Amino acid sequence: MSKKNQRREPPPDPAPLPGLVDAHTHLAACGGRSAEAVAAILDHAEAVGVGRVVTVADDMVDARWAVDAATWDERCYAAVALHPMHAGDLDDEAKAELEQMARHDRVVAVGETGLDYYWPSRSADCAAPQVQASAFAWHIDLAKRVGKPLMIHNREADRALLDILAAEGSPETVIMHCFSGDEAVARECVDRGYLLSFSGTVTFTNAAELQRAALVVPDEQLLVETDAPFLTPHPYRGARNESYCLPYTARFLADLRGTPEAQMAAVLGANARRVYRIG
Ligand SMILES: [Zn+2]
Ligand SMILES: [Zn+2]
Repeated sequence: MSKKNQRREPPPDPAPLPGLVDAHTHLAACGGRSAEAVAAILDHAEAVGVGRVVTVADDMVDARWAVDAATWDERCYAAVALHPMHAGDLDDEAKAELEQMARHDRVVAVGETGLDYYWPSRSADCAAPQVQASAFAWHIDLAKRVGKPLMIHNREADRALLDILAAEGSPETVIMHCFSGDEAVARECVDRGYLLSFSGTVTFTNAAELQRAALVVPDEQLLVETDAPFLTPHPYRGARNESYCLPYTARFLADLRGTPEAQMAAVLGANARRVYRIG
């Protein structure tokens, strides 16, 4: 078998680490587009201790799938928004539908929204920064109106994103999904009371700066996520990610922070249950 093929095999099951919640995943992109497929992904996750997941929408079709998944399976909750790349789709009709979905009792957050400065110069399909900024402001206001956490996507836009949040006024709960900033940005987010959610990127061998950032976050502001099917943790980087892989990243955080893994899992799980108000 070639090295390439080996890399593409799914990662093996990690040893179970009970109590975890996958704070951000994309079930539809993992193939979870029917009740049976969602149940299979969640059964696999539950077998290694990941008892709850929050599935996140990118576009309107995805948002409907996310709400469906959350109604199909009690282990699944949803977050809805238009991803910054799709911010150009935010017309009046989309706004009305998103607001209705955001008020659904299985929808626990408004996201992912924010700014992505990586893609606009690389893809004609990606909304321009100004379009993203106005969609972001609309989603910030939506999170406040429905009283649910704001889940933020940020790629290479630290300063602009923090400035817009300050100008608009942060909702009560802000989650920086797949946190990617340095120690200074982490400190600023911590000081503002935001939660920092770490994905497999924190485990990468070239992630020393991100690992330093993870060390400045107090226990009660820390979350863990897969962002599956992307960002598979080390040493499986490049293979397909799914919620069952979450213990790899949780264990890495425990080791990094010098916390026993069971205690780390309890903290991470409790934080997710508290901010998303789930059982
Ligand atoms: Zn994202
Ligand atoms: Zn995502």
